Amino acid sequence: RRSYTVDLIAGDGIGLEVVPAATRVVDALAARHGFGVSWREREWGSEYFFAHGRMMPVDGIERLSDGDAVLLGAVGHPELPDHETLWGLLIPIRREFVQYVNLRPVRILPGVVSPLRDVSQLDIVVVRENVEGEYSAIGGRAYRGGAEEFAVQEAVFTRGGIARVARFAAELALARGGGLTSATKSNGIIHSMPFWDEVVASVVGEYDGVGLRSVLIDALAAALVLRPGDFDVIVASNLFGDILSDLIAALAGSIGIAPSANINPPREHPSMFEPIHGSAPDIAGRGVANPVGQFWSASMMLEHLGERAAAAGLMDAVEDVMRAGTRTRDLGGSAGTEEFTSAVLSTINT
Ligand code: NAD
Ligand code: MN
Repeated sequence: RRSYTVDLIAGDGIGLEVVPAATRVVDALAARHGFGVSWREREWGSEYFFAHGRMMPVDGIERLSDGDAVLLGAVGHPELPDHETLWGLLIPIRREFVQYVNLRPVRILPGVVSPLRDVSQLDIVVVRENVEGEYSAIGGRAYRGGAEEFAVQEAVFTRGGIARVARFAAELALARGGGLTSATKSNGIIHSMPFWDEVVASVVGEYDGVGLRSVLIDALAAALVLRPGDFDVIVASNLFGDILSDLIAALAGSIGIAPSANINPPREHPSMFEPIHGSAPDIAGRGVANPVGQFWSASMMLEHLGERAAAAGLMDAVEDVMRAGTRTRDLGGSAGTEEFTSAVLSTINT
């Protein structure tokens, strides 16, 4: 019997509501498709911080390292600065496990009203570089106070770092049969971007049948709103990819839907799957959070683990439930987390 060990970090706020919902759904799929999941619950996050002065134990990374995947909810607490939750948990996991691809698919699920008029063609995957670029830990400095205040942030782009994410994006574009767009800003203002363009073009050039377009990030943001159907796979640096994927997620109707995967493509370390939304303190504890982003992330995890039928079965069940009109409040419906989850479970079990 196939069996997987998955570390669960529910984290904070609505993470504590949507992660348990996802494990119930995955357990039902596992029973149906003949595999097993042993969950290792990690009570890490802001409450752990208040008790121990850190987001996770000193050997937290080591404890995760022999697992098959990490399923994460969200971290973030109104009484804790975001740099603490980010640099104390999320960023160490992404970096120590060399999860250099951040994959963010977006498409329109049934019954969702997009803020755009015509999104019938929207089906995009953003491949965001996840460990270097503009979000670098080195060289940042600031002088605060006085009239000469300044802050400097250095971006770090390496040939190897650009090439590996470009390769992943080219292979994905090949598999999906669509084009590849590279987000850039090469008009001489940002020095790193002509280098990005050169490495992306040389890597993608090795793939016959993948058409590459480089589009300036500002124009690309506008084009995504005006003509989302023109895009399929988009490869972008850490900062550009972060912004674009939130933009596209918003086009898909609610931030509560969009999933993401932090992938270590050589599979030398676990990959991590998490919805793109945060801990939503404004609705936490009320049982109204949309679990779809967490479910979709779990589906990406199953796909990564090789359980393709279960991965597809999960999204089919979510779509059936939404098509039948069961929706959470962020999508204009009235279902709570529990009602939506029960509906998905009974769809899986019939
Ligand atoms: P957020 O995503 O938590 O919430 C933004 C808005 O969307 C809120 O109005 C919220 O109620 C709504 N929302 C989000 N997810 C929803 C869902 N599943 N169902 C229904 N509505 C949903 O973003 P924020 O308010 O900017 O941040 C709150 C905290 O989360 C902060 O501490 C932030 O740092 C953290 N955060 C964490 C992550 C992460 O863990 N990866 C990502 C983003 C933000
Ligand atoms: Mn973001």
